[in-house]
Amino acid sequence: MRTGNKTSTILKLFTVVGLTQIGFTQAVAQTVDITPTPHVQAEYAKVIADSRIKEGLAELERKEPEAIQEQFRLTEIPAPPFKEERRAAYFLEKMKERGLVDAYIDSEGNVIGIRKGRGDGPLLLIAAHLDTVFPDGVDTTVKQRDGRYYAPGIGDDTRGLATMLSVIDVLNRSSIETEGDIMFAANVGEEGRGDLRGIKAIFRDHPNIDGFISIDGVRLGRITNGGTGSRRFEFQFKGPGGHSFGAFGLASAIHAMGRAIAKISDLEPPSHPKTTFTVGTVDGGTSVNSIAADAVFALDMRSNDRQQLAILEQQAKDAALEAVAEENARWNNGEITVDFVLIGDRPVGRTDPSSPLVQLTAMTFRELGVDFKGLSISSTDSNVPMSLGIPAITITGGGDGGGAHSPDEWFVPTDSHLGPQTVWLLVLSLAGVDGTSSALLQSR
Ligand SMILES: [Zn+2]
Repeated sequence: MRTGNKTSTILKLFTVVGLTQIGFTQAVAQTVDITPTPHVQAEYAKVIADSRIKEGLAELERKEPEAIQEQFRLTEIPAPPFKEERRAAYFLEKMKERGLVDAYIDSEGNVIGIRKGRGDGPLLLIAAHLDTVFPDGVDTTVKQRDGRYYAPGIGDDTRGLATMLSVIDVLNRSSIETEGDIMFAANVGEEGRGDLRGIKAIFRDHPNIDGFISIDGVRLGRITNGGTGSRRFEFQFKGPGGHSFGAFGLASAIHAMGRAIAKISDLEPPSHPKTTFTVGTVDGGTSVNSIAADAVFALDMRSNDRQQLAILEQQAKDAALEAVAEENARWNNGEITVDFVLIGDRPVGRTDPSSPLVQLTAMTFRELGVDFKGLSISSTDSNVPMSLGIPAITITGGGDGGGAHSPDEWFVPTDSHLGPQTVWLLVLSLAGVDGTSSALLQSR
């Protein structure tokens, strides 16, 4: 840990675009100045000088081996999408053991525990996600091989869950009273078709949340302050269908779909802000000798810009409507229709780099000697609060690892205590420490 006036150094950073949870593809888009304001610097200096907070840092390092064991236990409780109940029940117990005795599971399946503050401060939400991408039946036993620990989901996001438990534990056993309330959540539905359902429910049920930190994955160093949005649809084509020989002359749902895909393939969304699409799956028809009565494809569209995403969606729908019209005009009996069914909706969002949340995280990395690798844009639980104008970032839970979303996912606990330590300093400086510092997260 470094102390002193390092935090007063001007931080000039590069933003990084195109980061995903698996890997990033493009870097160095622009320079951003995130110089902390004098007020943020002054309050932060008080936090890091508080002996109870220093003791907490030391304790988090001392207890890290236990945190890693907890991470492995959590990993071995499978949590497939929409089947997070078992891991949630275990996590609820662990939250209660660590002093959040009123913790509960909400109607969506999220585990929520609140540590009350003095009552006149902001409400800060810290979350990590319970769900993995792995379906039922995948073996999640942790296996050690060549100095690494392997198991599906061991980093994404079991690391975040373990980090959160460590912080709850140390906070509970400290005598620190915060100004603001701190809500801890192990949420469901971050991955894939979960469509951020857990975090959406939390922000729906608690409109008074003032700020959010998502702890997700491994490799500390980036601050995700941008949320890539996505809109996913099934385009469903329907028609009468008939015998391929006897009913020849009928319009075909599959032919209409083919025309639509051809048109969509030719769309040219901008590369800045990055905007993308793909038809991920197709299905339809009854047999080789039938004119298809139904056809469906799934379309994924993403953008770092709300407006570009809306434009792309309109172009794709227009293309499908044109395709249907052409197919119907081509034949004598044109009765093909198309319906657009929304199957995924992750809002676009951004937290301003001048937000105290971003400033404090960069200062904390510096304080702890974490190599700060810049700002990034990704699709995480933070998309939801960002889109609502609530300050939010995503950082990782620490340690080294790779292979997220693959059966070969691995973790190595190199300096992994830096994850909980980062969250510890952020929580206390944002929520405000009674008798020491005022809350740097503003009540909205
Ligand atoms: Zn994740």
